[in-house]
Amino acid sequence: MFFIDSHCHLHDPRIISDIPWIEDRARIANVQYMVSCATMEDNFELTAQLSKDFDSILPCFGIHPWFVDSISGRWKERLEYYLLSCPSGIGETGLDFTDKTCDRALQIKVFEHHLMLAGQLERPVNIHIRNAWDTFIHILKKMGKLKVPGLIHSYSGSADMIPMFESYGLYISFSGSVTNPKAKKVVGALKSVSKERFVLETDTPDIYPYLPEPNFSRLNEPQNLPAIAQIASNRIDMSFEEFSQYAYGNSLAVFHPILQGKKDK
Ligand SMILES: [Zn+2]
Repeated sequence: MFFIDSHCHLHDPRIISDIPWIEDRARIANVQYMVSCATMEDNFELTAQLSKDFDSILPCFGIHPWFVDSISGRWKERLEYYLLSCPSGIGETGLDFTDKTCDRALQIKVFEHHLMLAGQLERPVNIHIRNAWDTFIHILKKMGKLKVPGLIHSYSGSADMIPMFESYGLYISFSGSVTNPKAKKVVGALKSVSKERFVLETDTPDIYPYLPEPNFSRLNEPQNLPAIAQIASNRIDMSFEEFSQYAYGNSLAVFHPILQGKKDK
């Protein structure tokens, strides 16, 4: 049985010097691929380099909604340069209106550009949405169904929106937040999603899961993915094997364009 970590940040300064060991531990835990998302122009190069150094690392390039203020005058060219330089997806991108003082208009403009590129280049897109569901739905309606599947990472929305998101070509990604004993809403969402439409992620190094034997550092890593799958499958009364097989197959369906590109190289 294999796993794919559909959303993590291996460029993160807290873990970058440990990547060879983290990659090793992931492989031992049967985590076959890790989708590592850049978050701003400053970490595009590092994300590209990681994917060159390790066959198991699949890169995504994008501007995270928290960091839209950091964009340079050449961000669109730089994003496109990296997307064309190696088999890759788009992200992390999206909308996060949690901070009331954020520049919503800029977030929307940057996010729409990423979605437009995803359609144009036919790349999967790794989307972050927090407290911005109405705006996200408005954008989806305006832009129409995704040409290539994408995912909503660490889903925090309501269960009743899921069928609509599925109809737009989106997969729903669940992180360690599903292991929180108090996470009723997330478990409700996991119960509602189609078997063919959920994927799993760690969001490494964040969202440390509720594990029976937690690591002292509390820095998350992809090797924790099978444990997340174990707890999540229990919570929806599906066997661990069936649950893991669906998650793996669904992730392959989303990230197929990157894997195919890596093989053809
Ligand atoms: Zn993330």
